[in-house]
Amino acid sequence: MPELPPLREIIARHGLSASKSLGQNFLFDEQLLDRIAALPGSLDGKAVLEVGPGPGGLTRALLRAGAHVTAIEMDRRCLPALAELGEAYPAQLRVIEGDALKIGHAELMGGEPFAVLSNLPYNVGTALFVRWLGGEAWPPPWTSLTLMFQQEVAQRIVAPPGGSAYGRLAVLAQWRAKAKLAMKVHRSAFTPPPKVMSAVVHVTPEQMPEGVSIGMLERITEAAFGQRRKMLRQSLKAVPGAVEALEGLGIDPTRRAETLSIEEFVSLARCLTGDRG
Ligand code: SAM
Repeated sequence: MPELPPLREIIARHGLSASKSLGQNFLFDEQLLDRIAALPGSLDGKAVLEVGPGPGGLTRALLRAGAHVTAIEMDRRCLPALAELGEAYPAQLRVIEGDALKIGHAELMGGEPFAVLSNLPYNVGTALFVRWLGGEAWPPPWTSLTLMFQQEVAQRIVAPPGGSAYGRLAVLAQWRAKAKLAMKVHRSAFTPPPKVMSAVVHVTPEQMPEGVSIGMLERITEAAFGQRRKMLRQSLKAVPGAVEALEGLGIDPTRRAETLSIEEFVSLARCLTGDRG
């Protein structure tokens, strides 16, 4: 392994004071970073997309694990530090300067499968997650997502039905993928520490249920959870045919959105996909 200066030294030398507007909370604990990098299984020789490498803490762990990393970073102040890291691991690191929300990830990765790992900037994390989980095409180009979120968001992603955390994000994350809360991370692990606790979520694609358009599933969950305290016969009025479909499926229309299982949402979307999709 190449000898690298401590991350704190890199930050001081390159003047990388954490920027609040870029959602910068850095991780320095190498053991923690190695544990995150190990979550998807062996990365040796594998292609990895990392969003927001910052000074390169997680990037180092990925390179140590033998990954071929493409990293998208918006803060150009970090580029010299990342270039040094690239020199220490020749041909293993490619850094792209830009906004990960505006870059086509599959194209960037040359159409090859890739794992995504990221200590996401909180302000863009959910938007990227929704994008990775969205789209009609499935399986996705990524083989797994290993992502740091605020703990409250992580809990909404993995939530089972029946509680207040269960909503659109849970349905999106679980109807054709497996999402688990892999690791809780204390706020004190970050520099500077954020106000809230964090957690790493690990997502792997599963088979997509047949005959369901994600557009229709999203329409239904938006309507149902948009008025989550109302009965479905009221909240789903905005989706033509949905109340009749509930009855056809034997789902009691006096139930509320958060009591419906993912399978029930999928069945409802299947009923309405096609003629009204
Ligand atoms: N990966 C580093 C770590 O774990 O210590 C830094 C994590 S920090 C929470 C988030 C990083 O994402 C910052 O370096 C920030 O500049 C970068 N970033 C913020 N918005 C971005 C965007 N839209 N596209 C790419 N990078 C972004």
